Amino acid sequence: MKLFGSSGVRGVANNDLTPEFVLRVATAVGTAWGASEAAVARDTRATGSTFADAAASGLRSTGIDVHRLGVVPTPGVQAYAEREGVPTVVITASHNPPQYNGLKLIGTDGVELPVSDLERIESVLRTERFARARWDEVGAARRVEGARRAYVDDLLDAAPRERIGGADLTIALDPGHGAGSLTSPDFFRRLGCSVLTIHAQPDGTFPGRDPEPVPGNLGDLARLVRTTDADCGIAHDGDADRAIFFDERGEYIEGDAALAALAAATLDAGDTVVSAVTASRRLQDVARAVGADVSFTPVGSTNIVAQIRDLEERGESVPIAGEGNGGIFFPEYRLARDGAYVGARFLSLVADRPASAVVAEWDGYRNVRRNIAYDDDTEREAIMAAIEERASAADTEVDTTDGYRLDYDDGWVLARPSGTEPLVRVYAEAREHDRVTELAEGMERALERARAGVEA
Ligand code: MG
Repeated sequence: MKLFGSSGVRGVANNDLTPEFVLRVATAVGTAWGASEAAVARDTRATGSTFADAAASGLRSTGIDVHRLGVVPTPGVQAYAEREGVPTVVITASHNPPQYNGLKLIGTDGVELPVSDLERIESVLRTERFARARWDEVGAARRVEGARRAYVDDLLDAAPRERIGGADLTIALDPGHGAGSLTSPDFFRRLGCSVLTIHAQPDGTFPGRDPEPVPGNLGDLARLVRTTDADCGIAHDGDADRAIFFDERGEYIEGDAALAALAAATLDAGDTVVSAVTASRRLQDVARAVGADVSFTPVGSTNIVAQIRDLEERGESVPIAGEGNGGIFFPEYRLARDGAYVGARFLSLVADRPASAVVAEWDGYRNVRRNIAYDDDTEREAIMAAIEERASAADTEVDTTDGYRLDYDDGWVLARPSGTEPLVRVYAEAREHDRVTELAEGMERALERARAGVEA
């Protein structure tokens, strides 16, 4: 059983993920934590309070007193967990569609639980060795008000306030009916911005748009930027740990371009930037230009967190990390992805020049993604053997952090098996359209041939 994927437990509510199941997981969590107190929070999903009730019941049955935080963005929950020193269960499915829900676990340090802790919880669940409390020792529950306000106060303390406040910025903000609806408008206003909002009422049916901040879901935000004098558009996912941007013309800014611009403004010589092996060449360009290193991890934010910790323990400086999906870490602020904080860091660049100019240097790359599906282990092995063969024949540097990434002077291609679906994913990037097509299709054809060889 592999219960916790790279981003916690997720599934379609009342189908894959039932309240009974959440109750059992929370009972296992309570057993493994053995804490006296813990917290439960959620995003705005329609099924959120049902699952939060189930999680609280499970924890209380093991004798833990539960702080009920209500709707709070995941980074705000992480801030609470650290401030109060209580481990926390977050009921969220992040960017997944409205019918999904899920569960994420935060330690007393405010950081997502490491894999070793998750494995311990899985083992309790598997063996059903629940440490249920005696009838007169079950935990109490209390409602905690003010977690959101405290989070916004923290954000204001950490954000580059003077730079932003002095720039008289107007922003268009789309929290996508998620948890950020209750914090980000207030935060950006208190930073001194004029804030125009869309889809900013919390609503678990997500009437205006789906929670994932991808261009296809953000047409309304683009129009809002275009029809006003906004300097920048900012969108969050359902639990507001990600930020995606639009420039002053209403043009979508690729997540990789925003990450590169932020990295360029943050990295110094000798620093290391941590990213998943799917990272854009732009990040390598930035690092090379300033004399910093890029450290790749397998895909998944848990891996990025583990790598940041590992490097910092070895005395390396990691001022920025993250991926091109808007999930960016500034570890000196918090070892968490925080959409509002990332928004503020980006605005501090927009204070100097238009958003389009901030990212102009990092535009102009083309990315291609392909999926190659397989039916069984034999096909999977044939595909993996073909990738390996192609990698060893390639006259270039090969990175095997997660699959095989072949880096050339003018682009790269990566093939890696998906952790959740029977697919091998192929990613390619280059400046030239023909080159990116050649890289992606070359790999794709070789893998299709290998799979067809099994069928023949
Ligand atoms: Mg998220």
